[in-house]
Amino acid sequence: IAAQDYHSTIAIPPQDNSAMDGFALNAHDLSEQRDFVVSQRIPAGSQPAALEANSAARIFTGGVVPGGANAVVIQENCDYDENRVRIRKPVEVGANIRPKGQDITVGARVVEKGKKLSAVDLSLLASIGVAEVAVQAPIRVAIFSTGDELIEPGKPLEVGQIYNSNRPLLIGLCEQLGYAVYDCGVVEDTLPATKAALAEAAAHSDFIISSGGVSVGEEDHVKPAVEALGTLDLWKIQMKPGKPVAFGWIDQTPFLGLPGNPVSSFVVFQLIGRLLLEHRQGEMASPPIEYPVLAGFSKKLSQREEYIRVKIQTNEDGTLVAAPFHNLSSGVMSSLSWADGLVRHEADSAINEGQTISFLPLTDGLI
Ligand code: AMP
Ligand code: MG
Repeated sequence: IAAQDYHSTIAIPPQDNSAMDGFALNAHDLSEQRDFVVSQRIPAGSQPAALEANSAARIFTGGVVPGGANAVVIQENCDYDENRVRIRKPVEVGANIRPKGQDITVGARVVEKGKKLSAVDLSLLASIGVAEVAVQAPIRVAIFSTGDELIEPGKPLEVGQIYNSNRPLLIGLCEQLGYAVYDCGVVEDTLPATKAALAEAAAHSDFIISSGGVSVGEEDHVKPAVEALGTLDLWKIQMKPGKPVAFGWIDQTPFLGLPGNPVSSFVVFQLIGRLLLEHRQGEMASPPIEYPVLAGFSKKLSQREEYIRVKIQTNEDGTLVAAPFHNLSSGVMSSLSWADGLVRHEADSAINEGQTISFLPLTDGLI
């Protein structure tokens, strides 16, 4: 994440240069002559002299256009040897020239503070001569899973147990986004254990994420633990999957309690958690991209905003149609592995097959 703005102190390209192999000349000369003396040779990386009057310069891609020349004729339109060239086709002023500053002008902002730096950004910064980039240290995200039924993969499964699949999910999502992770493991379903986990997490992190235990069952201790140690700002969201969600603070450390079901955990992380982490990190928000597609299914009115796991099919006429997974239970993680993305089903509305709906593409996270 860029820690400051970057402005260019140079123009890119730094000088007018040739986009092609050919001959640089003054296009106005072509109204009077087609045969030119080749007065100099300009490969990329060389410093040309000004163009001699009524002459042409042999030039190669990336070569600096000499003063006095205003066009490059591609070599395919020339008959030439080392000393002379005949131009078979006239050219317009500016032809085959990449003008100085066409990409970046002096003073232009190339990277904005808070931008997550991609390989493209590093290339852009390199192109303006930046050798070292000031970046923000990644925030550290504490992650714990609640649930007495959870055991870690690698151990045999007893009746009533399930493997902890939220742990690699949430650790992986945070690491993919570039954050450091403080792994607090699994926390048993008691109030003291949940409070102890929150306190430890707050002491070691900039942001706390938990999964499970956030409903109102007797085995759900996240809400009372947050209320006992800090403040609860939000509890429950009208969305599906993902109704049991909590947001609060343990001292100065923000806390997000995700639902236990892995699909719900994923969807809430993607739609809400990611934006909270970006804000905490001080980086630019990256809300998911939404594309209009046609619904390949109908759905009854829903009171909660629903996110449906779909694959996209292309109709013969090129329109994109979303088809849902056969089982949309929030416990069915294979649906997410199968899906191309999610479609948004607005609250208090029905979906009719063929209507336009919003599609949010998914790779490992929402794009
Ligand atoms: P909870 O919100 O704690 O009631 O959990 C809801 C459902 O998600 C239950 O069926 C849990 O067994 C399941 N679940 C909770 N945590 C995890 C986890 N870390 N990995 C897989 N499933 C989980
Ligand atoms: Mg639980």
